[in-house]
Amino acid sequence: MQKIDEICPNCKNSNWTFLYYSTFNNYNLPIYICSTCKIQSIFPKDSQKINEMYNEEYYTGKAEYKYIDERNTEKYDSYVWDARIKNIQKFVKSGKFLDIGSSFGGFLSRAKLAGFEVFGAEVSQYSSNYANSKGILTFNGSYTDNNYPENFFSVITLVEVIEHLENPMTVFEKLYSQLIPGGLLLIQTANFEGKQAIQESNNYHYYLPGHLYYYSKSNLESILKQKGFSKIISYLGVDFPLSAKLLKSRGGFKSFRDYKKWWNISKYHLKSKFFPGSTSSMVIYAIK
Ligand SMILES: [Zn+2]
Repeated sequence: MQKIDEICPNCKNSNWTFLYYSTFNNYNLPIYICSTCKIQSIFPKDSQKINEMYNEEYYTGKAEYKYIDERNTEKYDSYVWDARIKNIQKFVKSGKFLDIGSSFGGFLSRAKLAGFEVFGAEVSQYSSNYANSKGILTFNGSYTDNNYPENFFSVITLVEVIEHLENPMTVFEKLYSQLIPGGLLLIQTANFEGKQAIQESNNYHYYLPGHLYYYSKSNLESILKQKGFSKIISYLGVDFPLSAKLLKSRGGFKSFRDYKKWWNISKYHLKSKFFPGSTSSMVIYAIK
């Protein structure tokens, strides 16, 4: 195996050990682990190939590595979006709200209804054009290239985004500086300390092309503390109730028989709620 000279974004060591090739969907990704803090990553990282992935085909579900086109299920997704916004408002009631990886702007349109002034950041020109045409102000490009001032946003959300970042440390520094004091950062990603990830090992479904770093509750909290966040609230599971998840799932139902899926969704939700760490879902709220 090759010698990796990249520095770990959390602990700054470069003690990478080859773990395995992922087997999920035969993606065969070379997974390495930081021997010190257990962040996982892939090497080498092919930036050009990654950028080419996020084209129109990716967002409309026609590409090999597809993203589900949220425009078809917006009505159902809104149950989860609204429940999440309600929870965010327990900490921050109003102000400027930035969603990174904002896609077609569905989540932000709900935040706008809840009284926030909304902003998007999106690498796909295709979906950011769409969001702008719907009146959701969206910056097309990498988040780090935006020119918004420091102490500007009251809320910043990254839902299933940080695993895609090539330079996570630069991003975390900018996130901290652009939040107002008392502002909230929300991050959703998989928890690689969760039992599910450990048991599924190299076949874990989160090993996907385009995912460059894999975090855990411990190392993500450590990064956020290093960056200066004063308070961290971690949800092992999700930050919204089961009812929202069940209502959302109906967006993908084709027939009445699909309601059987509610059993598995409920089982998973209750498992993560009553046995924290047994699944690998994780949402972190960090307050500046
Ligand atoms: Zn490390």
